[in-house]
Amino acid sequence: MSTSASPVEPQGSLTYRGRFAPSPTGPLHFGSLVAAVASYSQALAHGGEWLVRIEDIDPTREIKGAAGTILASLEAHGFEFPAPVFQSTRLDIYDNAITRLIGANLAYPCSCNRQTLAAMAKPGRAGLIYPGTCRNGADTSQRPATAVRLRTAALPITFTDGLQGRMSCVLSHDIGDFLLRRGDGLIAYQTAVAVDDAAQGITEVVRGTDLLDSTFMQIYLLEQLGLNAPQYAHFPVVTGPDGVKLSKHNRATKIDNNQSKFNILRALSFLLQEPPQSLKTASLQGIWSWVAENWDFGRLAGLRNRPEKSIMTR
Ligand code: GLU
Repeated sequence: MSTSASPVEPQGSLTYRGRFAPSPTGPLHFGSLVAAVASYSQALAHGGEWLVRIEDIDPTREIKGAAGTILASLEAHGFEFPAPVFQSTRLDIYDNAITRLIGANLAYPCSCNRQTLAAMAKPGRAGLIYPGTCRNGADTSQRPATAVRLRTAALPITFTDGLQGRMSCVLSHDIGDFLLRRGDGLIAYQTAVAVDDAAQGITEVVRGTDLLDSTFMQIYLLEQLGLNAPQYAHFPVVTGPDGVKLSKHNRATKIDNNQSKFNILRALSFLLQEPPQSLKTASLQGIWSWVAENWDFGRLAGLRNRPEKSIMTR
């Protein structure tokens, strides 16, 4: 990691800027390494910048020390990046965005809890579709309105994904008014990600298809805030032998920092880059130089959700 100041404000240039935004819910595992390699390689190939943002806004899911462990793993694998941004230091910025949206009547306080929603709401693409109960004023006789929701519209949100092609969804119908602030008072993931991607001047978000539906929400939220959305490209995520996405929750094995070259080559192979045998004896720096020259993003379109053998057992 270099010591230069962390860019939080947009630089106003057209320089490619990518990012990797891990939540500190566990150490880096092979699935998250693949996400880091994909976004970093794309930035390298564009001669651009790559930022690391630690998404530590949910203390209920955070594992103590995980942020430091993730950063140490990235450094051990030769990723270069400015000082990372920690979202926990930016809570007032997310608060301001929410206040602004409520002030403009684009968002509203909500007093519904899980039980009432479970009884009333239909399942949608990204969880339950909020039935709009508090849209015209929250009933606070039973509970305070601690959550905040964004008003969604019956218009299609459309974008061209760099790998998945044209994507479209009607937010009010498919997803519903979604949370900007959760009932427990915590900032919702969508709010922090959208605000920061804009604030950091990210030009392209490269991440797993598990976050595809979130993209519709983030694009719409950015539009409501009057901010520009980045480009997006979603690649199929790494799954375990059971077909379930590798995640810190299902105890995917921590990557071994002493096997950094092997891990990067394995991630590049997973990403269909066919690194040559000769790289096995190259330095870590040599591998990254090869990536800068030879990265072929288009190959990721050939990826399908597929288990990577032996990931869970290593
Ligand atoms: N923090 C999210 C995660 O670790 C990723 C956010 C993103 O890439 O937009 O799953």
